[in-house]
Amino acid sequence: MEKITSLAKRRGFVFQSSEIYGGQNGAWDYGPLGIELKNRIQSAWWKEMTQLHDNIVGLDAAILMHPRTWEASGHVENFTDPLVDCKKCKSRFRSDQIPQENLAAKKCPDCGGELTDTRKFNLMFQTHIGPAEDTASVIYLRPETAQGIYVNYKNIIQSNRMKIPFGIAQVGKAFRNEIVTKNFIFRTCEFEQMEMQYFVKPGSDEEWFSEWRNQRWAYYEKLGVKMDHLRWHQHGPDELAHYAKDAYDIEYLFPMGWRELEGVHNRTDYDLGRHSQFSGKDMQYIDQDAGNERYTPYIIETSAGLTRNLLMILCDAYDEELVTPEKNSGSTEGSGASNTGADDWRTVLRFHPNLAPVTAAVLPLMKKDGLAELAQDIRAELKEDFATDYDQSGAIGRRYRRQDEAGTPFCITVDYQSKEDGTVTLRFRDSMEQIRVPKAELVSRLRQEIKNYKRIK
Ligand code: ATP
Repeated sequence: MEKITSLAKRRGFVFQSSEIYGGQNGAWDYGPLGIELKNRIQSAWWKEMTQLHDNIVGLDAAILMHPRTWEASGHVENFTDPLVDCKKCKSRFRSDQIPQENLAAKKCPDCGGELTDTRKFNLMFQTHIGPAEDTASVIYLRPETAQGIYVNYKNIIQSNRMKIPFGIAQVGKAFRNEIVTKNFIFRTCEFEQMEMQYFVKPGSDEEWFSEWRNQRWAYYEKLGVKMDHLRWHQHGPDELAHYAKDAYDIEYLFPMGWRELEGVHNRTDYDLGRHSQFSGKDMQYIDQDAGNERYTPYIIETSAGLTRNLLMILCDAYDEELVTPEKNSGSTEGSGASNTGADDWRTVLRFHPNLAPVTAAVLPLMKKDGLAELAQDIRAELKEDFATDYDQSGAIGRRYRRQDEAGTPFCITVDYQSKEDGTVTLRFRDSMEQIRVPKAELVSRLRQEIKNYKRIK
């Protein structure tokens, strides 16, 4: 994880928030490559969940919601972690995350000092709206995006004439006052979620639950994630949330071990039932195709962290590879990479081309003799269709390595032959293979390569 954190900072994926003031715990800033990667992960999910489904529509609800929302959802009462403090070293722990014997003996696992009693700590960030800071003005930063969907479900049925089963998808920020925020961006106080809530007829919920589990698994396969790094974890009775009938997590093998990436939950009619009770509004669905039958729909939820997905994609893509002399020979790489005879290692991010922050980098072999101008022209042509980069500084081998480290799947090198016959070198990140391609065919060739991309390692 240290290597990934340091690469993420060095290359402008993720920076610590407010670093010049010593950093803000639980918050991170996404730099130029990071925001591109985050946007692509988000749009891959959005396409999968909305564009590819005729009956799923999008929503962007406000972060600030009426405080009654969180009473209805159960968050005011139940969204708590058990907390203990060490009286001596002042460390704070989740009591479910320290050894049982320490808890029983009230002994700090770090310094052996005395621990306080366990108390419940609500994870919601609370603030005030308006000038008065009294109980009447309390408002929360949403701890999940889901509730914005539930309170809008009737609006969406009416405005878009949705019929059950149907879904509503949303991506947005969520906030949790997490006690322990370690492992880089894995668990943060401010993060983003990608959630889809699917409204179904009671009785069909188990079938849809299983269908959505299958679809979410297939999604990660399509993204090219290492499938042996993914597994299912079913919530046992002591883990199930108060609203859930059944719940499975998709876990990923992060450098610190197996951890939750996404949850698929059968939330029953709990949420709509509670909102109906607390708001006094009828949240039932009227099935006009079945003699106006009325019922409160069950909800199947797929809930993934966007920022946690980004960490997963970084970990999944990260590779260090020993570059053999054969790989370097016969290519332009040897001219710049370490040619000292010592082992030549490269760091490479093997992003799927659909997710890579930069799709193609254009590199003139030399700055002089009109090669830079020709390369700039080629970049200008590619810009309309792809995210591009241009780099003319340093030896070509080093420039390839820089692009490998940023996860750029294709490099296009312009050399003297390009001036003569209009061809360029197309270099593939994963295999380091180089081929010559007429520059007029670059756009279609790249499109085809992206479409047919198969990860080789
Ligand atoms: P955990 O057990 O890890 O605290 P959770 O079960 O409370 O997570 P959910 O409420 O189901 O998580 O949230 C759905 C998804 O949102 C999680 O699978 C995760 O990807 C993401 N997520 C939740 N909390 C955080 C956080 N503090 N930081 C980053 N992502 C988060």
